Amino acid sequence: MDKQISTTESTIDNLENEIEDLEQDISVAEDNIEYAEKQYEVKDDVRKKRVATYYESGTISYWEILLTSESMSDFLYRKQILSDVMEYDKQLLEELKEDREAIETQKEELEENKVLCENKKIEAEQKKLALNETKVVRTEYLAELNASEDVLSDSIDKLQKQADALVAQINAASGKNTKYTGGTMTWPLPGYYSVTSPFGNRLHPVLKVYKMHTGIDIAGSGCNGKNVVAAAAGTVITAGWISGYGNTVVIDHGGGITTLYGHSQRLLVKKGQKVEKGEAIMLVGMTGYATGPHLHFEVRENGKYVNPLDGYLKK
Ligand SMILES: [Zn+2]
Repeated sequence: MDKQISTTESTIDNLENEIEDLEQDISVAEDNIEYAEKQYEVKDDVRKKRVATYYESGTISYWEILLTSESMSDFLYRKQILSDVMEYDKQLLEELKEDREAIETQKEELEENKVLCENKKIEAEQKKLALNETKVVRTEYLAELNASEDVLSDSIDKLQKQADALVAQINAASGKNTKYTGGTMTWPLPGYYSVTSPFGNRLHPVLKVYKMHTGIDIAGSGCNGKNVVAAAAGTVITAGWISGYGNTVVIDHGGGITTLYGHSQRLLVKKGQKVEKGEAIMLVGMTGYATGPHLHFEVRENGKYVNPLDGYLKK
């Protein structure tokens, strides 16, 4: 929206510059036309006076002037004068005609520029209206964003509390004093091996803030509803809804190692149940904060998340 606003503002600036230039052109053209009209009047006056003079001095005919010549040289002289006079009048008339045409052309151009100028003014007005509208929408949108930011930061606080509670719950339930004997874990979503979001800091797809991604996301076309399996043998210590994670299973594998599976559409195990490595525990879904069906998978050491791909999981 900001980009759109600045583009529109520079368009308006350009239009206003063009309008200013046109108005200047129009004013110059008006002055030019006025001057040309005056010049035309002067020239036309001269012509009219000449014509009037001929009539006032009595209509001496061309032949009369020639036939009253006193000699051949006088005859030729008079003939030359008459021809010059006639040529001059003819030229004057032609010049006047050309001047008139030039003035008319200038007037047409002036009218065209006036229309162009008016159109640009209308365009500028419309752009200004649109700009104001965009600015209003922008203000409203900003208010909306601020409101949803408040809601989101509430959600983030809630998630943090939930995460702390989860760690406490895992720590209370997991058999820390035993040893982890599960070895390399089995891939929890058989048939789907692409990690669509890795472990670590990332821009959260729903909350739109930088947030630690506490596990890996595994997905693929057609994964919705497919079986998620236990990555190693163990005991289910959580099977239920966790805010953000949706339907979730946590399995204790001994030695303080637990795995967590989130966003399920349906759970297949219950709290306290023992599961084998590779046993189906839930169906892939998109419950909780998810933009599409996927498995969110975590490995925790004494409640603290670690990168599952660092030694635990193998594709
Ligand atoms: Zn995830």
